Amino acid sequence: MAVARDFRIRVTPEMHHAMGNGPGDPVVAQFVPTAAERITRPEERTDPIGDRVHSPVPGLTHRYPDRVILHVTQTCDVYCRFCFRRETVGADGPLSPAALTEALAYIAATPAVREVILTGGDPMTLSPRRLNALMGDLAAIPHLDVIRLHSRVPVVAPQRITAEMTAALARHPATFVVVHTNHAQELTAAAREALARLAQAGIPLLSQSVLLKGINDDADTLATLFRTLTAARVKPYYLHHCDLARGTGHFRTTIAAGQALMAALRGRLSGIAIPTYVLDIPGGYGKVPVTADHITPTGTPGLYRVRDWQGGLHDYADPTAS
Ligand code: SF4
Repeated sequence: MAVARDFRIRVTPEMHHAMGNGPGDPVVAQFVPTAAERITRPEERTDPIGDRVHSPVPGLTHRYPDRVILHVTQTCDVYCRFCFRRETVGADGPLSPAALTEALAYIAATPAVREVILTGGDPMTLSPRRLNALMGDLAAIPHLDVIRLHSRVPVVAPQRITAEMTAALARHPATFVVVHTNHAQELTAAAREALARLAQAGIPLLSQSVLLKGINDDADTLATLFRTLTAARVKPYYLHHCDLARGTGHFRTTIAAGQALMAALRGRLSGIAIPTYVLDIPGGYGKVPVTADHITPTGTPGLYRVRDWQGGLHDYADPTAS
């Protein structure tokens, strides 16, 4: 297939079993390539969120003062058709020992860094032995408060969540796993059991999802996804607007559509089940929430107009402004 010349293709047995019939199935559409990926729109980029703009040493992105992204491997167990790093994922395996040493030295020499985000590729495709060694190295850096792993593995390859894997993650006292999943159909019984093993090991779980046209861009689908995650002890964290990666225009909704969906969820889901809808500003300028404004100034100092979840408008006088 022509798409395979530009972008990697891979799916796990777990996701293969989760697939329904036809290209419109929400799991099929995430992993099976189509000719639409060969269409590049003028606004699309090879590095949509600007990873390379902020890379002081190979394998590291330092965009915000207090946190860095460590791209520990380029490998994933699945290659998502809308991936924002689709130009780089699958191109290589784990970071070389020399590059990893240089990246760790940069972190150790930069006390402003409090948090390391392990991503890739997918850091949980590393063996427990390799992950254990890396977590040990990070645990030894005194100014690090938090290690965060962004991973699709608990959902797409749940058998990887072994006792060795959870023990490796527990090497650092504050390790968060942020699970990437976009539709409740991916959350198979085995995936939910893997999430339970992580939760039982004391690892806080968050989720991130991408808003994808034809896959999850309706309120019922998102509500079911976020309810299923919350029931599995995963706090929905981010809903990403689909980034401007090459060949992904057929997945992208409008911002207005995303805002309308978030407004529709506000009244029907508990606050703990609602993620923040975010846009990564193209070019490496970071993430911003893009939820429709619920509170706007009226022009009178300290007086605001507040919109409730049903669209009703209310005045709010800010006591500290009078
Ligand atoms: S698992 Fe993540 S990094 Fe890998 S292809 Fe999917 S979205 Fe991209």
